[in-house]
Amino acid sequence: MKETDYLVIGAGAMGMAFTDVILDETDATVTLVDRANRPGGHWNVAYPFVRLHQPSAFYGVNSRPLGSDRIDTDGWNAGLYELASGAEVVAYFDQVMHQQFIPSGRVTYFPMHEFDPASIAADSAQSEHPGGQVVSFTSTVSGETTEVLVRRKLVDATYMNVTVPAQRPPAYELAGGVRHGPVNDLASLTEPADHYTVIGAGKTGADACLFLLRNGVDSDDITWIAPRDSWFLDRARIQPGQFFETTATTFIDQFRCVAESTSIPDLFERLERAGILLRLDDDVEPTMYRCSTITTDERNQLRRINHIVRLGRVRGIGLDEMVLDEGVIPTTPNSFHVDCTADGLRRRPTVPVFDGNCLTLQTVRSCQQVFSAAFIAHVEAAYGDADCQNTLCGVIPHPNAATDWIRTSYSNSLNSAHWNADPALTAWLAAARLDGFSSSKPPSDELVEVMLGALDYAEPALAKLEQYVAELDADSGSD
Ligand SMILES: Cc1cc2nc3c(=O)[nH]c(=O)nc-3n(C[C@H](O)[C@H](O)[C@H](O)COP(=O)(O)OP(=O)(O)OC[C@H]3O[C@@H](n4cnc5c(N)ncnc54)[C@H](O)[C@@H]3O)c2cc1C
Repeated sequence: MKETDYLVIGAGAMGMAFTDVILDETDATVTLVDRANRPGGHWNVAYPFVRLHQPSAFYGVNSRPLGSDRIDTDGWNAGLYELASGAEVVAYFDQVMHQQFIPSGRVTYFPMHEFDPASIAADSAQSEHPGGQVVSFTSTVSGETTEVLVRRKLVDATYMNVTVPAQRPPAYELAGGVRHGPVNDLASLTEPADHYTVIGAGKTGADACLFLLRNGVDSDDITWIAPRDSWFLDRARIQPGQFFETTATTFIDQFRCVAESTSIPDLFERLERAGILLRLDDDVEPTMYRCSTITTDERNQLRRINHIVRLGRVRGIGLDEMVLDEGVIPTTPNSFHVDCTADGLRRRPTVPVFDGNCLTLQTVRSCQQVFSAAFIAHVEAAYGDADCQNTLCGVIPHPNAATDWIRTSYSNSLNSAHWNADPALTAWLAAARLDGFSSSKPPSDELVEVMLGALDYAEPALAKLEQYVAELDADSGSD
């Protein structure tokens, strides 16, 4: 029987980032299993014009840079660090696998294999393998089943359950003959539609609108179905490298906004005034926050779209009308309806990251999945006690509601407090490429002064966040 130290289920970005640090910091062997034919997970099925919405500089695996730290000179991200395209991300993970992992002699990769969760239960029922647990996975091509003895840990890198529109049918009904497709189809249109209706107001919906505008579609020929409006993060304020000082100042501003706020609505007003959060329409209060980033240029482009429909979710599309939760709007047979509704990063129930001989990869720094997977691998390699490991790896679920900005900020602060109390961990973070918020050069005297001043805000800000989380919990308990 084959043997391995770690069996990682899922060669998406998180499985890859985890494996990279394990290879770097231990002498363990790793077996990676994925039902897809290439590493990179959802990036293999994402729409052709997808790009990272955070700089390439802190995406991918820790040991290998992605991109060349170029500053974009054109487009609506001009002046900011480059954002890798989906194709670049996929090529990058392919190189990591075939130029680094497999040549190391310590990684065995099984693409086109479906992991069988029932094999875990079967093995624990038999308990016949004191040297580890036996699990199995089956080729989706040959049908052959492989059994592996996992000596150390089984790593679930599928738990986040990322879904993109091309991976499932829409949740609404479609009459025959309606022009409709996942956002991917926009890139293969051969004939213009009379009108485009973009369904979904998350990051994918915004990307679809920007694609249409960039390709010359008149803004009046776009209808945007937005069941909820979102807060966006200003991408200019979360830049690494040469913009470190701006980013550090943003963190300090955040602390100040929280510390000086008098209520939750007042906090959001302050965050918006400070330019930390952006909204699409000044007259509509956002109720959603998904960590999506946007530039002010992109936001200004989106503001050109006049037909934004806020009547809830789509229930059905016919040739002449669309039925929504709160009303009916007209459409035409030659309108193209763009499905951007998959909840890419659905909120998942939180489970302990470290649980016996299983590891479940989740987010431990808000919306930084690859960083989180690398960080968890480091904690696995460097710390022995599961309680201590789970304390360092407090799970931060994906935000969804606007007020989740408060919850994630609070959880981030708690995790950071644990990390900062550990000098070895602080040193690891400072050297980690995926920790985009470390600076490669010492801060200026001016910034040091500002940062020292910020310490005054840290404690009151944490207390305020704790108070707001308690208020939110009380409100949700009384619903
Ligand atoms: C459109 C989009 C843009 C994004 N942009 C950014 C960004 O700019 N920056 C950022 O930090 N994050 C971004 N994210 C977040 C992103 O989800 C993560 O960064 C990361 O790619 C998620 O990787 P994952 O490994 O968790 O999931 P996935 O990519 O879904 O990988 C999971 C893998 O597990 C495999 N698998 C599942 N079940 C099984 C099974 N039973 N057997 C075998 N294999 C299985 C799947 O085939 C898949 O390859 C974005 C997300 C989306 C949807």
